[in-house]
Amino acid sequence: MAISKMMAHYLEVKEKYKDCIIFYRLGDFYEMFFEDAELMSKELDLTLTGRDCGLEKRAPMCGIPVKAVDIYIAKALELGYKLAICEQLTEPKPGQIVERDVIRVITPGTVMESEILDQNKNNFLASLYASKNGYGLSWCDISTGEMYATEFDKDASYDKINDILTMISPAEIICNSEAKLLENSFNMLERKSLPKFTCYFDASFEKARATEQLKKQFVCVSLKPFDLDDKTSSVCACGGLVAYLLDTQKRSLSHINGVKYISYSNNMHLDYVTRKNLEITSNSRDGGTYGTVLWYLNKTSTSMGTRLLRKFVEEPLQDIKEIKLRQDGVEELYKNIIKRESIIELLSQIKDLERLCGRISYNSLKPCDCNSIQKSLKVLPQIKELLKTTNSKVLNYIHQNIGEHFDVCELLNSAIVADAPTNTKDGGFIKQGYNEELDELRLASTEGRNWITQLQNQEIAETNIKGLKIKYNHIFGYYIEVPNSQKELIPFRYQRKQTLANCERYVTTELLEIEQKILGSEERALKLEQKLFVELREKLLEYLPSLKTTASFVAYLDVLTSLATVAVKNNLVKPKMVDKSEALQITDGRHPIVEVLSKDGFVPNDTLLDKQDNRTMIITGPNMAGKSTYMRQVAVITLMAHIGSFVPAKSAQIPITDRIFTRIGATDDLAYGQSTFMVEMTEVANILRNATPDSLILLDEIGRGTSTFDGLSIAWAVMDYISQNLVSKTLFSTHYHELTELEGNLKGVKNYRISVREFDGSIIFLRKIVRGGANRSFGIEVAKLAGLPQNVISRAKEILKSLEQADVNNKVLAESEKSNTQSVASKRNEREVINILQDVSIDKMTPFEAMSLIHDLKEKLKD
Ligand code: ADP
Ligand code: MG
Repeated sequence: MAISKMMAHYLEVKEKYKDCIIFYRLGDFYEMFFEDAELMSKELDLTLTGRDCGLEKRAPMCGIPVKAVDIYIAKALELGYKLAICEQLTEPKPGQIVERDVIRVITPGTVMESEILDQNKNNFLASLYASKNGYGLSWCDISTGEMYATEFDKDASYDKINDILTMISPAEIICNSEAKLLENSFNMLERKSLPKFTCYFDASFEKARATEQLKKQFVCVSLKPFDLDDKTSSVCACGGLVAYLLDTQKRSLSHINGVKYISYSNNMHLDYVTRKNLEITSNSRDGGTYGTVLWYLNKTSTSMGTRLLRKFVEEPLQDIKEIKLRQDGVEELYKNIIKRESIIELLSQIKDLERLCGRISYNSLKPCDCNSIQKSLKVLPQIKELLKTTNSKVLNYIHQNIGEHFDVCELLNSAIVADAPTNTKDGGFIKQGYNEELDELRLASTEGRNWITQLQNQEIAETNIKGLKIKYNHIFGYYIEVPNSQKELIPFRYQRKQTLANCERYVTTELLEIEQKILGSEERALKLEQKLFVELREKLLEYLPSLKTTASFVAYLDVLTSLATVAVKNNLVKPKMVDKSEALQITDGRHPIVEVLSKDGFVPNDTLLDKQDNRTMIITGPNMAGKSTYMRQVAVITLMAHIGSFVPAKSAQIPITDRIFTRIGATDDLAYGQSTFMVEMTEVANILRNATPDSLILLDEIGRGTSTFDGLSIAWAVMDYISQNLVSKTLFSTHYHELTELEGNLKGVKNYRISVREFDGSIIFLRKIVRGGANRSFGIEVAKLAGLPQNVISRAKEILKSLEQADVNNKVLAESEKSNTQSVASKRNEREVINILQDVSIDKMTPFEAMSLIHDLKEKLKD
């Protein structure tokens, strides 16, 4: 037995696209065969059937209706499969073999379908190139046409490349074979959110070939305009990326018309753990955006704006001029409510122009998309009018760069009807008056309908058959239908076509002639409409670069407006950005997100960190007092300031900060085979290696994952190292109140605590940060609040008392001080009281604050 022709072709295709699942088009279905069918029937929950293939055994087969294919594509991609779409290239005709070929390979990083994509997030394909000389990284979103590149020298740490990769969060990563070898060198802990690397042909990453590839793609003679001419590794990464795109997409990608080089030394560097801890773009609960910094700042009106805001939040700036540029734009919109509200109103009418541009270039434009483009462009003149009289440089700049696009508007308005359909299959989308020939053809077909009515009346009159009707269906075309009851009246010239239970169907020569005319013109009209649409798209292609520029500046305006709206709504202030050598000073700062989510209001707090006497804050206080919240509030305010946003405080002075590090003790990562403590220490080691004097470090209860003495000693030594060697600004919260001992021993360390009041054996949280360390941890009181049974609480108090008598803690102090244990504690307290008295500015205190300070100091000396 010989295998059938179609199956032989299928096997040929499969051989060529071995690593893909083949979606093989047969009429209204995409079919899968053999091992693909067996696998995908399970994965996608499809019924496994069989098909004769010329061999003895039927070929296993399963299928997906063409209409529902998007859902299945999404599912298969999510499961990590690559798909090759094999289409019918010729119309099926009897006796002829249908030609088929793969028109596109779909991979997680090359999805275009808007139904599958998250509109608020870029879908990036990344390409990593490694060689002896360094690393290149390039990434691209083919749905919007954005492409970026960066590179690292050969000494760059894997951590850094890794951090940037996780920040980009690509859906797919391709690489050359040298980069593939590195895959495992990446830190396991931080890699879990990345897809596996897929090797692509090394030849495509070669410099000469890559350069040619890029010049061709960007239609230019040199890569200088993209700032890439001396960046070999980037060029290689970009070259591999473009080759892979063309190879899988098999069509023009003219909207990818340039690449933007990003130097990460221009951005604040945030590592993976810090992003996670500060909940910048995804929350720790379910990875969603609710409760994140991005969520808080997002009042954008377009999805382009949402995507750009995400980029702003992920890449805080380092250049003070650039930050001030954004701030001034936000400030102007903040102050001018009428302008702001009008801009929001207009922006909300703008559709996703970036992705619409992508569809023009990608040849997947639908008639209804033309309506969307037109509606979006129509509001541009009004936006420009509003921006005409602005003071800030950035709004001026946006004004200049948003086009009016009258010509595109007019073109679309003249060509496309108002509520155009979603596809070109049935026609009816080209406007009357756009093309003379089309109008004539359409006239012929509408007139044809009149001819049919006339003919029907004429036949009734001639034959006297009352129930005679002329009807139409897809199989027979037009026919005359006569009820059986009047069969005798049928004239000879009627030719019978079909007999049904209660009627018969006939045609006449005249009817056939009219039919020819009508159907001929309808078919020609449809073909012509489709041709006109192709031409229209080609015309739009010429406007693409300017449309893309407009889209990106609309997004910019949207983001600044969003920041202004949030500032007004949440009562934020413009922070004063200062040089990195100056102090960080916040008056009445609030945690933006805890504040908006809290029902009981929020207690604001001050912060002072500088490079001299206030380098390190050691923060003590019972559980639930608000230590973590306070520390995060300082970090989030610093971060927001670097984005160009206003911040939640009465006033704030923020020095340029190169990195923020956040570590939280005892976070579990057992799933990745590392114990809690190991994770904690790896993270701390990372800080000690990478922090600079201009960094901000948050250490929240580190050293918790091991025994008390171990933990205490490590915490002590780490603090010592940071405050003396790194000199970074540091916030350190701890439940080891022994660490308050560091004040006075180490330069720049100050003790703080979040105050509580003891009341009737219980405690009340005041949420106010004050100078001086806590003397005890109030663990039992907190446990009581949590509802532990009364007898457990009493027993705990008894045990505590006996432990305190044994005076375990003082042994540790003795070790460091090497002096009499008894006097150490009181000496420490005396010294602290003196320090506090030296620090307070009496003129800034209310009488009540003064009273409570005196009370606190007295308590301290009593201990
Ligand atoms: P800790 O780290 O000291 O155990 P947290 O920072 O986790 O305490 O704070 C505990 C709770 O107290 C938080 O869930 C928050 O809702 C509330 N809280 C913290 N700080 C404040 C504040 N300044 N104002 C109001 N509520 C606060
Ligand atoms: Mg905490």
